[in-house]
Amino acid sequence: MALIVQKYGGTSVGSLDRIRNVASRLKRTRDEGNQVVAVVSAMSGVTDGLIKMAKELSENPSERELDVLVSTGEQQSIALVTMALHDLGVPAASITGRQAGIQTTGSHTRGRIADINGSLMKGLLDEGKTLVVAGFQGVTKEGMIHTLGRGGSDLTAIAVAAALKADVCQILTDVDGVYTCDPRIVKNARKLPEISYDEMLEMASSGSKVMQSRSVEFAKKFGVVFEVRSSLNDNPGTLVLEEHANMEDVVIRGISIERSQARVTIAGIPDAPGMSGKILGALAEAEINLDMIVSNIAHDGAARHSFTMHSSDLGKAQAALKPVLAELSPDAKIETEAGIAKLSAVGIGMRSHSGVAATMFKALGDKNINIGMISTSEIKIAVTVDEIHIEDAARAVHDAFALDKAPA
Ligand code: ADP
Ligand code: ASP
Ligand code: MG
Repeated sequence: MALIVQKYGGTSVGSLDRIRNVASRLKRTRDEGNQVVAVVSAMSGVTDGLIKMAKELSENPSERELDVLVSTGEQQSIALVTMALHDLGVPAASITGRQAGIQTTGSHTRGRIADINGSLMKGLLDEGKTLVVAGFQGVTKEGMIHTLGRGGSDLTAIAVAAALKADVCQILTDVDGVYTCDPRIVKNARKLPEISYDEMLEMASSGSKVMQSRSVEFAKKFGVVFEVRSSLNDNPGTLVLEEHANMEDVVIRGISIERSQARVTIAGIPDAPGMSGKILGALAEAEINLDMIVSNIAHDGAARHSFTMHSSDLGKAQAALKPVLAELSPDAKIETEAGIAKLSAVGIGMRSHSGVAATMFKALGDKNINIGMISTSEIKIAVTVDEIHIEDAARAVHDAFALDKAPA
């Protein structure tokens, strides 16, 4: 008898009919002779709706209370899915994050899983129950509710699979798997049969929200192989696993886009030790996540520092930088630019192939799309472009690497 963990996302439980569909899929998996643990998200739109309500009520709602509020979305889903299972005659029990023994650390709204005590789940499985676990939530040692960051039900599923030593972990969603680019944007994107953890991680953290990036990190750390597949059909999906020989033969595995980015440039700063530390320190203190960072020296000897961030952090960044810049130099100037987006090409094959950047930049140039900032890692090249051009840019780069065609 195998133990199978299946995670169903918001769209997959987005209506009562969809919930019935999930219940009958769980029943089928059980009838095939397996023990089944489902991890479910809130019904689509529910988490957003709860956050919107909180923000309408209060300009700066407490993160502790936000966690208490948004975690109710998943609690609705587990009860409904379990009721639908009961209607099909399946012995089943709903399990909250606390009941699943998911202990968290870190901050509210972005808790991290520190430990899972799966004894209650194991006992119920031994009694023959199918379990329906609330994604996205856990509790601290002190008993405070934490949520795990947006898309956090993916993390719950991977962590529960690791804790219960599941034989199979499946992430069931509204697409058939991980594609070479978001299939809603690039129509001829191709479903990948497999992708390495590192590639999935780079894609997820550069905008491919098919998986939450922290969940991929967790899967890599604990060696949880998982499959992303559809909750609406039985097509084989995409396996996410440690890289193996031959994977490097493919230069680019996929392309990600991230919208709503902004750039801040600080000019007129003396080129002296400690300056960057002061500037970035102020931004870190304001809890602003920076993405790309570029510094250079102009011919007048002054330094320029540019960095990108989510555009919703722009106001906070300006406020945090003002006092530091006044202290550093009377000539310091700050320029900001919103309305930009990031395009990333990802592939472990980049380690052993040259000319990738040239192909990417030529494809963008041929479409008359201007590149702003550039950053690279061993397996990623990312550029910023005007947000209005991001979809054309994604299609152009997808075509340039012929990602619609399966590698020979
Ligand atoms: P769920 O609610 O099941 O968690 P998400 O909305 O979080 O689903 O993720 C699925 C969505 O991710 C898809 O509908 C698709 O638009 C988007 N997506 C982005 N990049 C990719 C990609 N490379 N492959 C597949 N889907 C992608
Ligand atoms: N409901 C949460 C969200 O919308 C968690 C999840 O769906 O994975 O982010
Ligand atoms: Mg998701």
